[in-house]
Amino acid sequence: MISTKDYSGIEPFREKVWLSSPTMHGDEMKYITEAYEMNWMSTVGENINAIEVEAAKYIGCSFAVALSCGTAALHLAVKLAGEEIYGKPRIGHGTLEGRHVFCSDMTFDATVNPIAYEGGIPVFIDTEYDTWNMDPVALEKAFEIYPEVKVVVIAHLYGTPGKIDEIREICDKHNAVIVEDAAESFGATYKGRQTGAFGKYNCISFNGNKIVTGSAGGMLLTNDIENADKVRKWSTQSREAASWYQHEELGYNYRMSNVIAGIVRGQIPYLEEHINQKRAVYERYRDGLKDLPVSMNPYDEKKSVPNFWLSCLIVDKEAMCQQVRGERDVLYISESGKSCPTEILEAISSINAEGRPVWKPMHMQPIYRLHGFVARGGSGCGGTNTYIKRSPLDAGADIFERGLCLPSDNKMSVKQQDRIIEVIKRCFG
Ligand SMILES: *Cc1c(COP(=O)(O)O)cnc(C)c1O
Repeated sequence: MISTKDYSGIEPFREKVWLSSPTMHGDEMKYITEAYEMNWMSTVGENINAIEVEAAKYIGCSFAVALSCGTAALHLAVKLAGEEIYGKPRIGHGTLEGRHVFCSDMTFDATVNPIAYEGGIPVFIDTEYDTWNMDPVALEKAFEIYPEVKVVVIAHLYGTPGKIDEIREICDKHNAVIVEDAAESFGATYKGRQTGAFGKYNCISFNGNKIVTGSAGGMLLTNDIENADKVRKWSTQSREAASWYQHEELGYNYRMSNVIAGIVRGQIPYLEEHINQKRAVYERYRDGLKDLPVSMNPYDEKKSVPNFWLSCLIVDKEAMCQQVRGERDVLYISESGKSCPTEILEAISSINAEGRPVWKPMHMQPIYRLHGFVARGGSGCGGTNTYIKRSPLDAGADIFERGLCLPSDNKMSVKQQDRIIEVIKRCFG
């Protein structure tokens, strides 16, 4: 498995070019220092209050609750949905226990794990090729197979809004609640509205590699004050209004620290600057790679403006060299004029830059191998690793096979990016 391509003359970067690294601006230290000096070194304080107001206003949701991470936000979001629909479970049981829940398939596992935390059974909906998000056609099929489903979790992959109108129409028809995972898409819009405002319960993330970061952190967004209050209470151990520690509900330690909130507070004013830089990175790749048999991760220009968090490419089918992935290993055969994600990622890595494969679809993950999967053509069924047998591949498996994430750091210089583009070109030499 050795590439036969010639990368000679392309110097490795002395300092690594990252996939997506934090970009600090200075105000972060000011807010952290304020917290320190006033001794608000806790999960209460002015920074938390400020970012909740700012994020809610920016996204256009009435309420935001700052939490320890996006995964915690998603957990409490699906818990709210579960409790609303199925009622409060006994202690030791989840709100979604034994219930099927539809969710995006090609995404980070943090989108779907919270369903399992609540005892639910994720059923994965295949991906469409127009935005690499949940396929409404497959979703409609899924409701034929599982008409009882009442919760749908949708992600906006790599900062590109999915087919929100179509998905919402289907969910409304089936009386299903949408939980929106906007962890990757903070700042992206669909028909002029921010992602994170379309579901009943919505989440964003401030993880270290997201478009703005607190080093960690996340938020739940909702228009319902009772739900916002419930999340605030749950996330601080569900303490009741009594002078001692009184508990009537299960609690969590999910609240954001006021120190972390200080970093987020310093970052939010730079969200649009970061988006503009990321867009420029995306457009330079698109222009620089236009003569190769590849295309960029697509979006609907008429309806949406992505935040361009990660730039990705997908190799044309005819230009793929042979590549075989096992559960942990991969082999490919280098071939003139053709390439594959493994070869391109190795080439990028050889010059000290960081790319990575696109998210491996959840229906292909061993942990979820017994779970249902519904593609456009109908049920992929549970029970087996159906992707191995299906021909042609479902869209998710196909995009995973041919796609990869490019170094998308907003601090990457034009010169650095030109070098990355050059090494990708050599892969097709
Ligand atoms: C990052 C991410 C999350 C989780 O956010 P954390 O803050 O890391 O817990 C959830 N969903 C998606 C799609 C993500 O990319």
